[in-house]
Amino acid sequence: MNTAVGRFAPTPSGRMHIGNVYAMLAAWLSAKSQVNPVIGLPGRVFLRIEDVDGSRAVPDADKWIMDDLHWLGLDWDGEPVYQSRRSAIYREALYALQSIDLDADAPLGDRSHVSGKVLVTRGDSSVSAGRLPDVPKGSAGRFPLVYPCFCSRADLRAACAPQEGDRFLIYPGTCRALLAGDPNEVRSRLEARRRHSWRIAVPDDEMGGGSVAFDDRVFGRQVFDLARDVGDTVIRRSDGVFAYQLVVVVDDLLMGVNDIVRGRDLLRSTALQVWIRKALIASGFAERYGIGSDDVAESDRGDAAGKARPVGTSVNPVYAHVPLIDAPSGQRLAKRKRSPDLGVLRAAGVEPEQVIGYCAWLLGVRKSDGIGNCGAAGPVPMDAQEALERFSWEQVKTDVSDRKLTVNWESELVSPKSATVA
Ligand code: GLU
Repeated sequence: MNTAVGRFAPTPSGRMHIGNVYAMLAAWLSAKSQVNPVIGLPGRVFLRIEDVDGSRAVPDADKWIMDDLHWLGLDWDGEPVYQSRRSAIYREALYALQSIDLDADAPLGDRSHVSGKVLVTRGDSSVSAGRLPDVPKGSAGRFPLVYPCFCSRADLRAACAPQEGDRFLIYPGTCRALLAGDPNEVRSRLEARRRHSWRIAVPDDEMGGGSVAFDDRVFGRQVFDLARDVGDTVIRRSDGVFAYQLVVVVDDLLMGVNDIVRGRDLLRSTALQVWIRKALIASGFAERYGIGSDDVAESDRGDAAGKARPVGTSVNPVYAHVPLIDAPSGQRLAKRKRSPDLGVLRAAGVEPEQVIGYCAWLLGVRKSDGIGNCGAAGPVPMDAQEALERFSWEQVKTDVSDRKLTVNWESELVSPKSATVA
């Protein structure tokens, strides 16, 4: 049985606020509550500083985050991993993805995890330097998995209807159609060094479509149609920055993360990330990093009955998406909206047990088990270890609606009814 491996994945764009602590606590509780019966040890948690987009990173925010995690008693294993130092790995991943095609005619293989058309290796090295692959001829159903996109933001805004909440724009396929219809034009634009991003394609209706299904610990069975719900997505931006959607998959794969906990606004992203993960495995990228073919074979086998896989028995991650915490105004808590952060709370004399107790309460930790006074309707202070003794995903699942903080939540941190269910 594999040990659970979770991760904290903060973006160092400011000091943590209560919503970040709630997500970190959930990730920590999830991994630590899974004790490997063979070795008798709890799961591990890694810390990954998601600073791939340097323009969003605030100097020293990584240090504040680590200091706050220590203060909260949320420990992690090993050294922190900085995405800003991993560009060579992300570049290699992009090249690997550029070496495969979507193939509508290929046998379907195992549909239980990612259904739809199969990814096939092109079998030549024409793309090893990130060049545009030749568009395969004589097989209408074949298309490069990754293609250049010359659309500007304004083009996209004009063409795409934003989806609810998670800022997903379903790409209308402009440059996909361009490559299919006029590959020479695409080649000459690349030669002229026209600004472009790289997109990963999903099987469209013409190719027979495809969907991703996974079982979320909180929200249950999730099924996303790749063409309709996700669309072709940027994995390297036109400014050269590798996109979150690619780097998160590369890192989770290479770090052996198998227990992913985060906000429910990323449910749809998970479908895309399952697709990217599948493609990285098909490209041979994972194997080059020692993720063996045995593991891969198992991870790709899935569960034909469509049931959740027992936790920790394969390298496929298990996902848990937690309800969001909204500010009193109803807006999502975010660092840039100046919600009271841990710096403000700590300066006001709030204790770590109050913050942990509050977040544990938001996660449904309620019942008294003889430790302290946890029978009350509202949050009670407790440390991370006490929260761990009372935590279960079953409790989180009993109420999946988003939480909204009340206006005076700071001063009410430890008193009953300081947050309400939206
Ligand atoms: N850095 C991302 C965030 O702060 C993490 C997303 C994820 O867990 O994949 O929202």
